[in-house]
Amino acid sequence: TQSTRPQRLLGAVQKNATRGDPRSVVQAIDQFCRQKEWAMNVGDEKGCILDSVVSEVNPATVLELGTYCGYSTVRIASLLPPHAKLITLEFNPDFAAIARQVIAWAGLEDKVHLIEGASGDWIPKMTEQFGVKTFDLVFLDHWKDRYLPDTMLMEECGLLRKGSILLADNVICPGTPDYLEYVRSSPRYESQYFKSHLEYTKVEDGLEKSVFLG
Ligand code: SAM
Ligand code: MG
Repeated sequence: TQSTRPQRLLGAVQKNATRGDPRSVVQAIDQFCRQKEWAMNVGDEKGCILDSVVSEVNPATVLELGTYCGYSTVRIASLLPPHAKLITLEFNPDFAAIARQVIAWAGLEDKVHLIEGASGDWIPKMTEQFGVKTFDLVFLDHWKDRYLPDTMLMEECGLLRKGSILLADNVICPGTPDYLEYVRSSPRYESQYFKSHLEYTKVEDGLEKSVFLG
């Protein structure tokens, strides 16, 4: 049987990255995606913006929507302070299986809770299942039509506090027009665009960072 792209991506990690070294895992994936096959990771260019937001926020609780192979999970988890918790959601079981191995190769399995399931089902269960009251940082990078409904769901479930940060990927390409309109026009958010490029290309894309004002 033929291998899948995520399996080949994992193979590149196992071949080229050092166990327990998150930077080398990130580099091996970026190299694979630039030289061999494009994949929908946030990538190195927007990844640097993601890193700087994570470092600035220094979050104790992070929610990631859309794990795919665990590339952004590794970037985020490697920058977290001790005892911080990163919950990441992925509804495709084949991707989740690859991500678990990528996260373990980076040595970050103790910092990451990967949930196999759909955001709409799991967001309402965060407090009951994981004891999380609010998230300091949410990275939105799942299907683009889910950014707005899931943000409203997080608001309804009380998972955002005054000062919680939403960081949304791909707000230009493929684009999330309803979400952008919402965070930019709502008095409950203060929102800022970080211009960049779609992963591994020269096409414009960027991240939108929105502070929830309560
Ligand atoms: N954040 C990853 C990174 O930068 O390395 C990339 C995530 S990829 C762009 C989006 C992922 O979200 C896909 O793997 C898809 O299966 C998953 N996904 C899409 N909608 C979802 C949902 N509603 N709940 C959970 N996972 C979802
Ligand atoms: Mg993305």
